[in-house]
Amino acid sequence: MLTVEQALENILSHVDVLEEEERSILDCLGQVLAEDVYSDIDVPPLDNSAMDGYAVRAQDTKGASPRSPRLLRVIDTVLAGSISRYEVEPGTAIRIMTGAAIPKGADSVVRFEDTDDEQRRRPAGEQSPAETGILKEVAPGTDLRRAGEDISKGAMVLSKGTVIRPSEVGVLASLGRSTAKVIRRPVVAVLATGDELVEISQPLPQGKIYNSNSYCVAALVLRYGGIPRILGIASDKEDSLVARVRRGLDADLLITTGGVSVGDYDIVKDVLAKEGEINFWRVRMKPGKPVAFGTIKGVGGTGAARRIPHLGLPGNPVSVMVTFELFARPALLTMMGKRNLSKPIIEAVIEGPIKNTDGRRIFARAIVKERDNQYFAQLTGPQGSGILTSMASANGLVIVPEDKASVEPGDKVQVMMLDWSQQI
Ligand code: AMP
Ligand code: MG
Repeated sequence: MLTVEQALENILSHVDVLEEEERSILDCLGQVLAEDVYSDIDVPPLDNSAMDGYAVRAQDTKGASPRSPRLLRVIDTVLAGSISRYEVEPGTAIRIMTGAAIPKGADSVVRFEDTDDEQRRRPAGEQSPAETGILKEVAPGTDLRRAGEDISKGAMVLSKGTVIRPSEVGVLASLGRSTAKVIRRPVVAVLATGDELVEISQPLPQGKIYNSNSYCVAALVLRYGGIPRILGIASDKEDSLVARVRRGLDADLLITTGGVSVGDYDIVKDVLAKEGEINFWRVRMKPGKPVAFGTIKGVGGTGAARRIPHLGLPGNPVSVMVTFELFARPALLTMMGKRNLSKPIIEAVIEGPIKNTDGRRIFARAIVKERDNQYFAQLTGPQGSGILTSMASANGLVIVPEDKASVEPGDKVQVMMLDWSQQI
């Protein structure tokens, strides 16, 4: 039996980073930047006001206080987006709004709160008073935002390899960029196998179950940035499976579920061995012991002999989710050019016992909560690998090492977090 690490290492040795593509910036969310981004402009482009107030010459505010205001003649008003035609001369000020360009002659801004603006009467029909009393001395540069203080022209702003988050989308937009070069998203073909499966929204005949795996896997693919392509259900017959698999050969990864155990009709491994090279593994983990991995001759792409990786996950829905997180997710992230492949692992106090009877690494579904600056993990009920609702109420997987026979309440355990909900 392989360890989880050995299995993962083998899978990752068969996946490559995908090609680059140019996409509109919003579509790049979660993708990895494939170019160094330089700025053609200063951001902000001009010195501008950080406050609503008056643009002044700092010199004119010397000695100003509420008791001895410095009176300045107001010669213009300038709003964000426009530029004043006037120059601030000694003894004058220009009323200015946040973001408006600093007029010539001014070297600082006095915010309204430090003037007598509120009390001033306006000439009829005018927004601004004829004069303003400055109540506070300011140093040159006060409440100015300098041209280029965020980004200076010519600077490298984002480097190749950066994962695009909302803040990077915002930075690209602030440069005026509508597209960026990123590593493309992997297309993942998802195929369920099993004669017992019925497509959702169909009536459920006796003896059948709904195909939940395809949707669960497709949702995981989406969540981690891939593009799922559901290929439907293959029956447990060779020709059905081969026909369906062939529909997925232009994908970047094929994920099948079911048919990799040791039952009579578990034909995935046999069929796929014929179509490509497949390794059937038993991985020292629970749930999810049987996993198949290999490569199949693909179609499309540029290379004549393209091979696509195939991950044959078990059939049980919980095993599907756990093996996806451990094996398929790192493969997807690698294709997307990401470097950080593991989910966050925290330390928690376990609240119930777990027995490890056969020396496998256990991934037990748990809900992690925080109390008194400490994490506590509680198992989410029966741990059968068909009980998918136990996954729905979990936010993490408690890891019991293969060499540990049991953990007892109060023991410290490692938990691989699947979600960071607001509860923790
Ligand atoms: P298998 O490995 O094919 O023997 O499947 C193991 C268990 O998982 C069986 O109880 C199957 O009915 C169940 N199973 C397999 N595929 C699916 C699926 N797509 N959706 C829900 N359950 C499934
Ligand atoms: Mg089956």
